[in-house]
Amino acid sequence: MDVKGKRVLVVGLGKSGVASALFLESRGARVTVSDAKSEDQLRNEIPALLDRGITVETGKHGERTFRDQDLIVVSPGVPADVAPLQHARRFGIPVIGEIELTARYLQGQIVAITGSNGKTTTTTLTGEIIASGGRKTLVGGNIGTPAVTFVEQSSPDTWVVLEISSFQLESIETFRPHISAILNVTPDHLDRHGSMENYIAAKLRIFENQTAEDFAVLNADNEISCRLAAGLKPQVLWFSRLASVERGAFVRNGLIVFRNGLEVEIMPVSEIELKGAHNLENVLAAVAIGMAAGIEPAAIRRAVQEFRAVEHRLEYVATLRGVQYYNDSKATNVDATIKALQSFPANIHLILGGKDKGSDYSELSALIAERAKRVYTIGAAAAKIESQIGNAIPVTSAQTLESAVRKAADLAVEGDIVLLAPACASFDQFTSYEHRGRIFKELVQSLAALQSSSPTGGR
Ligand code: ADP
Repeated sequence: MDVKGKRVLVVGLGKSGVASALFLESRGARVTVSDAKSEDQLRNEIPALLDRGITVETGKHGERTFRDQDLIVVSPGVPADVAPLQHARRFGIPVIGEIELTARYLQGQIVAITGSNGKTTTTTLTGEIIASGGRKTLVGGNIGTPAVTFVEQSSPDTWVVLEISSFQLESIETFRPHISAILNVTPDHLDRHGSMENYIAAKLRIFENQTAEDFAVLNADNEISCRLAAGLKPQVLWFSRLASVERGAFVRNGLIVFRNGLEVEIMPVSEIELKGAHNLENVLAAVAIGMAAGIEPAAIRRAVQEFRAVEHRLEYVATLRGVQYYNDSKATNVDATIKALQSFPANIHLILGGKDKGSDYSELSALIAERAKRVYTIGAAAAKIESQIGNAIPVTSAQTLESAVRKAADLAVEGDIVLLAPACASFDQFTSYEHRGRIFKELVQSLAALQSSSPTGGR
């Protein structure tokens, strides 16, 4: 695609929108950006764009702005059916997303990973596996670096590993990964997609341009995923934690095995540092992708052995006086907290709370009764949580994260786990889940300092 001298509009100034605008300008396009946010809200993004001679429209989507274009690149945050875009399409203006833009320029092989949960963990691990096999590897997409940023660095021998959201898949046309994976499909983002069918249809688009030379990696343990395989053009590889599969990665007698015609034993499950059954699924998916990419089993094993949790995802922080601290600040909904609780058999001191998202916390009560010793509530949702989780174990109203960590450290004994897996958004007391997770880690580190300087161990 040659955009030199063409008029291109980029809609939405998130990370990928800014990256797209700068990329298009570097290719000689006459770029305009439009965002409904105010100039003040976009004060961090605007200067770099103006510096490059890009026209910036803020606070509205002008009708003429959308009509006088040769191409529109839309950000994943902007629904495909908003009025100005519909209008532009009626005028025959092509509308694509950043991933499609990338696909038209990128060299090398693409690995694309989507799913309701586990995308970041699996994408990061897959990147490590492919790099461990000695390939030139770039990792990004929905996490970290926008895909379009990789175009300049890519060459025919590059492997580009991308985390892809269902929103990004709505606006593809030619995007063709050599290996695509859907990790799992559970209800999510139904507010935007409208129905489960639409959500599944959006995810399925990841396979739509693949051919028999390519691979689709699917979860044999996820009922909806099993239905997706019918009629796919790429070769299907499965992964399963629970049963052996004809083609793909699975567990047998404590070993990860990969089978596709021949069978290879990759490694013992016990060598995985990541906690939890859900992370075993992520590892199996990454192993299947690695094998599809032709990476040596020994290189895959090395990468998995060395892989530690991605920050804020059941991340090990420290062991103090025999008590282990884990940061799962990314557990911003009840489902993720259930996964976190399932990762430890017992003796959990669980920190819950934050900004409520209309969740039903009673879904946690059985697991809490089974595995937790005490719950510490924080933030705006505390009262609701306390009224819903039942009274099988004691609850401390800690109000703040600092007080929760202090109280948990006081009450926990050797062999216990202190787990931040709050089941809520963070915005009542923090700027983001990352912020909340960092503060948790700082609090644990300061406990460590206190304990090492005090003869009574900080009590
Ligand atoms: P995503 O990028 O899809 O949000 P992450 O790797 O960031 O996924 O993990 C986010 C949270 O989702 C984790 O803290 C964990 O609770 C949960 N999770 C991770 N992997 C899985 C999985 N395979 N199945 C179900 N839940 C998972």
